[in-house]
Amino acid sequence: MTIELERLVRKNIQHLKPYSSARSEYSGMAGVFLDANENAFGSPAGDGFNRYPDPLQIGLKQRIGTIKGISPSQIFVGNGSDEAIDLLFRIFCEPGRDEAIICPPTYGMYRVSADINDVAVREIRLTDDFQLDIPAVLSGITDADKLIFICSPNNPTGNLIQRESIIEIAQNFNGIVVVDEAYIDFADSPSMIRELQTLPNLVVLQTFSKAWGMAGLRVGLAFASLAIIELINRVKPPYNVSGIAQRAVIGAFDNTETVKQWIETVLEQRTVLAESLGRLNFVETIYPSDANFILVQVAGANDVYHFLLEEKVVVRNRNNVELCEGCLRITVGTPAENVILLDAMKKYEGLWNE
Ligand code: PMP
Repeated sequence: MTIELERLVRKNIQHLKPYSSARSEYSGMAGVFLDANENAFGSPAGDGFNRYPDPLQIGLKQRIGTIKGISPSQIFVGNGSDEAIDLLFRIFCEPGRDEAIICPPTYGMYRVSADINDVAVREIRLTDDFQLDIPAVLSGITDADKLIFICSPNNPTGNLIQRESIIEIAQNFNGIVVVDEAYIDFADSPSMIRELQTLPNLVVLQTFSKAWGMAGLRVGLAFASLAIIELINRVKPPYNVSGIAQRAVIGAFDNTETVKQWIETVLEQRTVLAESLGRLNFVETIYPSDANFILVQVAGANDVYHFLLEEKVVVRNRNNVELCEGCLRITVGTPAENVILLDAMKKYEGLWNE
């Protein structure tokens, strides 16, 4: 399969002469750097902060490439994966003309990013079991569509989207299929990264914000063909990932055992939570989860949500989201936090029974 990137990419981006930063013009080992108008004396924030960071995050990408089994040239590192979502709209969608498809209920930023970029979004709802409605997606595609967003495991429903259906859509779409794997580390399924070899129109998003525990650093990833990554690199702001974030993530790779243990605990606790919540009589449905949260349908979702707030427990109220009526999305916390949540829920059950 081939894709005609020329047809897909906006004309202004095809012709863009990207900004050439001081650090991208020279990145060797010179002794005296007088090229970037930095403060040559130092930084009150600490050693090295007076210097601009590596614009292409070469060291970080090498480490990620080894872990994920992919060439560093097929990796984009962004200021959170939200940055990658925005860049994809800016590269592929002509404002006011091109369109994108999303499959709700799903992550809200796809629509917000589209709105910001003045790109019309068409919604093709997931099926009742939160899978892709393949015939509806395939028959709904028009020539204006440049992007299809698929979130797997999906937020807020928590389930993986069937791999074969993602592949089928990618094989039958002349645009870019973006698979958002923010929660893939909690799922018992390999990443779609391995499909990049055969699907040149695939972009896989991942993040260090979830399982890796680095949401505050803002580091997200996109994996794609060399050609797509080169386009993203041309459009991204020159220094989009701070030096401290790059160094901290590289340092975190020495601690992967801890991350693995956290993931195991989350998976155990997810089962405990699902079973315990399922025993409460105002809980109507516990949706199966491949992520670090559970979607739970309850009687009187707004009341439960506000009761939990009074008990100082914040969950995400998804009651107003189509196909998630009556639902709360609950992140799996530490064992102690989950006990607090369950105690609050039992207290509500006591009041509800009265
Ligand atoms: N994708 C999904 C599905 C998410 O749930 C989130 C965060 N809520 C993101 C992307 C954004 O993650 P990041 O912190 O990397 O911007």
